[in-house]
Amino acid sequence: MGHTMPALFIGHGNPMYALGHNRFHDGWRSAALELPAPRAVLCISAHFETQHTYVTGHERPETIHDFYGFPRRLFDVQYPAPGSLELARQVHALVRSRRVRVDEGRGLDHGCWSVMTALFPRADVPVLQLSLDMSAPPAVHHALGAELASLREEGVLLVGSGNLVHNLSRYDFKDPAPLDWAVRADALLWGLVQARDHAALCAPGTLGEDVRLAVPTLEHYLPLLYVLGAQRDGDAVRTFNDVVEGSMSMRCVRVG
Ligand code: ZN
Repeated sequence: MGHTMPALFIGHGNPMYALGHNRFHDGWRSAALELPAPRAVLCISAHFETQHTYVTGHERPETIHDFYGFPRRLFDVQYPAPGSLELARQVHALVRSRRVRVDEGRGLDHGCWSVMTALFPRADVPVLQLSLDMSAPPAVHHALGAELASLREEGVLLVGSGNLVHNLSRYDFKDPAPLDWAVRADALLWGLVQARDHAALCAPGTLGEDVRLAVPTLEHYLPLLYVLGAQRDGDAVRTFNDVVEGSMSMRCVRVG
């Protein structure tokens, strides 16, 4: 029997955190050092939004710089991890509730590589991404996580990359002091994670005004539901990088 891999939800925040020399990057690195060595990573990033569900099958995925207005050195970052068409086909075969299409052309977006630079700085672990079907309601994303859970027993690290609280229209770059409603929403959502109230978490629109502000759009929230969907009975749940900056929560969750 090999190790059962934990699953991680990572609050990724500002792409500049990819460059290191900050507490969030350090927290991601520390979390990775506590993991068994994975065979591969399947990352569900906020920045791969599609109709239908895709898994990347490129053997040499490019590093996609899907942002603008950042310093040159961020555009210079390359994350040359291999992909795995074989694992992409395995994911395609594993999911029965819907058809997961293999995309052999797509590279890795910054929601993925900004975190992977800390988790696996040598880029020696194959990395695949699963897209977010934005036409599907939250419960479908949670159910997909449950279908993918068996990959944990096969040495695959599931990494959801988003933010529990993410409202850029309320973010003040000059003063990222935590906003009261963001702190309350972060605490409420983390409480539900600890209580394993996944039904409530699959209905963020019913959780009140603070969460409505915290989750104005779903793309940064949905990656959490994959990680929770893959949670097994008896899995420990813990958190790190539990910091709110302005209207963004950097909280990360480890399951298992
Ligand atoms: Zn993002």
